[in-house]
Amino acid sequence: MLVRFHLPPNPINFTLCYEHIAGLNKELSFTLEKVLKEKQGLSPEDAAELYRQYIWDVDRRIVDQQSKDLYMVMSETISGIDDSTSKATNSGETLKNCTTKLSESGDLHEMRNVIAEVVSETKTIAESSQQLQKMLSETKQEVESLREELERSREQATTDPLTGLLNRRAFEQQLACVTSEANQSRDSLGLLIIDIDKFKRVNDTYGHLIGDKVIRFVAKQLTNNIKGKDIVARIGGEEYAILLPNTQLDNARILAESIRANIERSKLKRTDTSQYIDGVTVSIGVTAYKHGEITDDFLERADEALYKSKNNGRNRVSMSF
Ligand code: GH3
Ligand code: MG
Ligand code: MG
Repeated sequence: MLVRFHLPPNPINFTLCYEHIAGLNKELSFTLEKVLKEKQGLSPEDAAELYRQYIWDVDRRIVDQQSKDLYMVMSETISGIDDSTSKATNSGETLKNCTTKLSESGDLHEMRNVIAEVVSETKTIAESSQQLQKMLSETKQEVESLREELERSREQATTDPLTGLLNRRAFEQQLACVTSEANQSRDSLGLLIIDIDKFKRVNDTYGHLIGDKVIRFVAKQLTNNIKGKDIVARIGGEEYAILLPNTQLDNARILAESIRANIERSKLKRTDTSQYIDGVTVSIGVTAYKHGEITDDFLERADEALYKSKNNGRNRVSMSF
């Protein structure tokens, strides 16, 4: 299928084809077949969209729900057992008191024996119930570690492994959240798109490993410059975005300028040869959210501003209104 439709054999295309051919994902198959028929192929954008809609989102929802369900069941079971143990222990105690009282009042032997027997019976019940509780607590721990594992994989799904920043997917989720919040509160919302200048040259001159270090270095500079509710993400190879809730355009521009200047000033040294990596600069586009607009328009305006910076010679900040 990859060959037939001239699809590059990357993990996204592979997964889409696999799920389709194996008949694992009816909804995906339906849309995929439609797209292939209409367009006689699959663009990387279409592939990414299909992947997000029919694989990624579904996986995440299932994992979320499963871990929640499992935890709920276990918690309820444990508290149920806790209850029954304490009840059994209590009745043991009560019966013991009864025996004491009975012996003091010198009542019938027969009766005392019977009650002593009941006490011992209750004790046995309490013990076995305690054992059960111990066993279930251990199970609970297992479930908890399973849950942590799931939590970690969820984190991996939203984190860019190279920089530790949010990835593109997570950024889009955050974008949807903060724009909807801004629409409700009518607060301002700033957006910066940051792109490393002539990054191809860095890779070509110093190699990909150093290139990766530069990407990490810029990420660090960005996180150092934000605070509070600000959201920073790596949205492309050498492209980042910062969302600035409650920030007006002019303050967003001031922040962008300070980020740009910090990066220009910083001297990056190779750890292996102590040689400096010259001229790492960034271009930045700044814009402010217009209440009610769709997120695509918001992003596009920031991109437009970024291109102004690129076209006007790079290493600068531009705004779009
Ligand atoms: P411009 O100033 O116009 O942005 O030029 P540029 O060279 O930065 O832009 P272009 O988009 O042409 O090149 C981006 C390069 O970034 C190409 C790609 O090889 C490189 N790149 C993308 N992701 C990574 C990565 O994770 N690691 C490394 N080392 N390089 C990457
Ligand atoms: Mg670039
Ligand atoms: Mg770029």
